[in-house]
Amino acid sequence: MAAKGQIKDVSGQRFGRLTAVSPAERSANGRVRWLCVCDCGTEVVVQSNNLQSGNTRSCGCVGREKAAARFAVIGRLPNRQKPDDEIGYTAAHDRVRKLYGSASQYFCIDCLDWAQDWSLQTDSPRARRDAASGLLLSPDPDDYVPRCKRCHFRYDEYGPAVLRGSRPA
Ligand SMILES: [Zn+2]
Ligand SMILES: [Zn+2]
Repeated sequence: MAAKGQIKDVSGQRFGRLTAVSPAERSANGRVRWLCVCDCGTEVVVQSNNLQSGNTRSCGCVGREKAAARFAVIGRLPNRQKPDDEIGYTAAHDRVRKLYGSASQYFCIDCLDWAQDWSLQTDSPRARRDAASGLLLSPDPDDYVPRCKRCHFRYDEYGPAVLRGSRPA
């Protein structure tokens, strides 16, 4: 641990929803970090400069709430309006964008970074393969969620990326 005098003692101080508890191990690049407890009860280790600058003001629950709020504002299609046609891969994506706009105005549902893509929930019962390209799609726009490129890739690689019943056991 670094000498006490080098660290500005912020224990007990509040930064947004976070309250600093005790100094934590420094980051790999030597930055001072603090163990904080969030109002929601989650403990996080945050770099001191991010606390001071106001960059980090919660454990991530604020972002999660914002993401949820953005979805809530738009609302989703009532069941009876859900299309179930022989739509192709590209047209299915266009439909999502037309309804919900660009994915980049949402947070990635996995990491809460800004999203980049509309990502198909491949475990949806309506997911199927495009006859022409063989790519997975869904006629239901609500089967798509915003994801960043990284999480989209990871989800498609390791997520429930198997179309139900499409792979031999
Ligand atoms: Zn929190
Ligand atoms: Zn992500």
